Amino acid sequence: MKVTSVVLTAMGLPRPYADSRPVEVMELDLSGPQAGELLVRVEASGLCHSDLSVVDGSRPRPLPMALGHEAAGIVEEIGAGVHDVAVGDRVVLVFVPSCGSCPECSSGQPALCRRGAASNTAGELLQGGRRLSRDGSPVHHHLGVSAFSSRVVVDRGSAVVVPSDVPGETAALFGCALLTGTGAVESTVQVRPGDSVVVVGLGGVGLSAVMGAALAGADPLVAVDPVEAKRALALSLGASHAVEPGSVDEVRDLTSGGARYVVEAVGHEQAMADAFAMTGRGGSTVLVGLPHPSRMLSVPAVQVVAEARKVLGSYMGSAAPQRDIPRLVRLWQDGRLPVERLTSAVLSLEDTPRALDDLAAGSAVRQLLLPRRD
Ligand SMILES: [Zn+2]
Ligand SMILES: [Zn+2]
Repeated sequence: MKVTSVVLTAMGLPRPYADSRPVEVMELDLSGPQAGELLVRVEASGLCHSDLSVVDGSRPRPLPMALGHEAAGIVEEIGAGVHDVAVGDRVVLVFVPSCGSCPECSSGQPALCRRGAASNTAGELLQGGRRLSRDGSPVHHHLGVSAFSSRVVVDRGSAVVVPSDVPGETAALFGCALLTGTGAVESTVQVRPGDSVVVVGLGGVGLSAVMGAALAGADPLVAVDPVEAKRALALSLGASHAVEPGSVDEVRDLTSGGARYVVEAVGHEQAMADAFAMTGRGGSTVLVGLPHPSRMLSVPAVQVVAEARKVLGSYMGSAAPQRDIPRLVRLWQDGRLPVERLTSAVLSLEDTPRALDDLAAGSAVRQLLLPRRD
């Protein structure tokens, strides 16, 4: 069938992308779902910093690639062997397909599925190969999802069924921003009432970490970002304080000498160094933002030892999506996780270049891209 997709054709072009046009909206051919796969009509997708990292070349991927990894939609067709999903179900798509049987999946770490990581790096679906093509030439999948499309074929392991009362535009944000941000504070580390927490970087993931930490009872809860509007949003989502980047001394004062947990959701060396410096004795620095592969992490080794510090990586919030997304949906239904407040704009697929520019400039939180209904 024919689908409309946003396809990345060149990495590392100069900004503004509205002029250099690294992405194009194209009509592609999509083959039907194979065994273990689903055809999903995309309702909404979210533009995430990890998409920008592929566009600017700091997260190299094979081209051409149909971009996007955060979405929700409606199941339209089911491949052989899938018995726990029905046509018409609403699904949240997640960016690591889990196979269920590799050593990591078997030990309860589906976010680290090694088969999923390998297929994502290759730009293929979990079972191998690509279902997208243009004029007979294959087009790669982004993280097993390729969310900026009218329809997608995904592995069953990339989809989580959610109740139909969650609007697609809200459900989309559960797949990356909310899962990653809340997971960092409840799965990678377990924030308890009264724990001091700092979140550095207030994009969709960082603000989700603020919401998750507030829900867990963090106090104080300090949010750090250069953009005033994002600091204000963090305060309204439960942060007790909001400061500009580099305010290490102020944060150490606010947290009685350093926080128990500091979540870094930027992916830059300076932000990581600040996050480490804001962490207290015995505390944990949780790294969520994706740095360029050439970057090295440098921390004072003596502090790690003598202050019993922990530096922890967190990928997809150390989450188990099939367990955690339905639970997060129930919190949303109770009004305790207002994820829709992360949406800063609702756009069409054709707006992607401009949306990438706004994301790079720091002015956007979560921009939703809606495909045209056919
Ligand atoms: Zn993402
Ligand atoms: Zn696995």
